[in-house]
Amino acid sequence: MADAENFIQQFIDEDLASGKVSAIRTRFPPEPNGYLHIGHAKSMYVNFGTALKYGGTCNLFFDDTNPSKEKTEFVDAIRRDIEWLGYKWEKEVYASDFFDVIYDYAERLIREGKAFVCDLSADEIRETRGTLTEPGVESPYRNRTPEENLRLFREMRAGKYRDGEKCLRAKIDMASPNINLRDPVIYRILHETHHRTGDKWCIYPMYDYAHPICDYLQGVTHSLCTLEFEDHRPLYDWVGVELGFSPKPRQIEFARLNLTNLVMSKRYLKKLVEEGSVHGWDDPRMPTLAGLRNRGIPAGAILDFCARAGVTKANSECEIGYFEAVVRDWLNLRAPRAMAVVDPIKLTITNYEGEEEVDFEINQLDPSAKTRKIRFGKTLFIERSDFSLDPPPKYHRLKIGGCARLKSAYIVRADEAVTDANGEVVEVKCTYFPESRSGADTSGIKAKGVLHWVNAETCADAELRQYDHLLRDADYAGQDFSERINLESEHIFSAKAEPALFEAEDGTAFQLMRTGYYKKCAEGGKLVLSEIVSLKDNFNK
Ligand code: ATP
Ligand code: MG
Repeated sequence: MADAENFIQQFIDEDLASGKVSAIRTRFPPEPNGYLHIGHAKSMYVNFGTALKYGGTCNLFFDDTNPSKEKTEFVDAIRRDIEWLGYKWEKEVYASDFFDVIYDYAERLIREGKAFVCDLSADEIRETRGTLTEPGVESPYRNRTPEENLRLFREMRAGKYRDGEKCLRAKIDMASPNINLRDPVIYRILHETHHRTGDKWCIYPMYDYAHPICDYLQGVTHSLCTLEFEDHRPLYDWVGVELGFSPKPRQIEFARLNLTNLVMSKRYLKKLVEEGSVHGWDDPRMPTLAGLRNRGIPAGAILDFCARAGVTKANSECEIGYFEAVVRDWLNLRAPRAMAVVDPIKLTITNYEGEEEVDFEINQLDPSAKTRKIRFGKTLFIERSDFSLDPPPKYHRLKIGGCARLKSAYIVRADEAVTDANGEVVEVKCTYFPESRSGADTSGIKAKGVLHWVNAETCADAELRQYDHLLRDADYAGQDFSERINLESEHIFSAKAEPALFEAEDGTAFQLMRTGYYKKCAEGGKLVLSEIVSLKDNFNK
């Protein structure tokens, strides 16, 4: 047996050892009411990953018991995102597939005196539920006979009552210390068209009642969910016991993934989209999987992050910097290097004529990557910040009379700066040293600085996009998201890029040397380089 990596796997090992279960089955249970976000990636990592580890299976289970918020558009987006992460589900199942059986089970509970139709309003039910220190008050409808309950429940189903006029409640214990067991509502009336069952139903089961049944009917052995369901587990187990499930699925809860500077609630993300604060669900600043994909973050890096963050039982908030560090590490090993200049000034090599190709290392950390040819010439662009007329001490970039290496090419010495009427440098005139060619340097000249550059003759114009976090740091704990939203989080620059970037396949992630990790895409013939993650690691692992 595989070694347990976390407490969930320890429980599973126990269940396998005791013979309670033989083959492991889990399910990933999204509600199709929005797009998946990075928190869901964690849930997938736990559900799919655990099944994979034990050679078991994981279903994709759409929890569609709430017709007012669910849409087919979301179902399709959810499928796409799971596939992108690379997970394969065994079966695609919907809670609504089981509506008939769930209904039959409710009739059974009624016949056995374990459920009753209640006429109290939602408010009245809340008011009589009691508190953590005081028991609840029993409903005056609690002692209806099974015959009467069955008749009323069938009338509910037949559409005789309006929304909220009646409901079906489990008959458990109004004095239970666990409020979830105080005669919870298990069916409600809702005259609403369902995205799959249409108008067949006007009563819908509640999550806490439907979920254990759906788990059981799918043969789920371990129902892995987040900690907020811990207090609901007694109800999950009650349903299993009363309906005689064998083997009974086991619910195990783990901590949600929370990240600083990211909103993780679908409801709030939806608001951002609807108010136009972002370009859409797949805006590169969004924590949705569609957004992260559009940002250029590789699926592998997200799974790597989930693995490194671990599966725990304690809620906590993870630094966004940690996530970024994982993405950076992942890309550092795999992303081809390229050069682009964000704020260009012209560099002219006065003693150079003609042009030649130099060898550029694609990725020194990737043993399979080799070199590619780039064209060197007399007129180049370098970064404005790589030249100084008034250099501080120990300045290793270019200064008048000083030397620096042009990446993969030659060492140059700056001789003269041409300035415009405002004193702004517009051109740096240099001398190059023919014996200093990279890989065959016999010049003996020392140059500490290595500068990135592009060839002015062959370079492409690019639009460079950089992003800040969508949420500013909180000023105090618990500050509302809406006060932290950073609407000016997208910054656009024009840049000069190597032609190789123009020719690269859309979606490729590059390390733009000394600038950051960027995704290449073409928008209407225009080269766009959009930031995936900065180069600087300001997270302290
Ligand atoms: P939201 O509050 O964003 O709408 P949700 O929990 O309502 O999230 P569901 O579609 O019901 O979203 O979630 C599907 C599964 O993903 C659930 O089992 C849920 O516990 C899990 N999940 C949701 N958010 C996170 C998170 N941040 N970390 C880990 N698991 C999560
Ligand atoms: Mg939910």
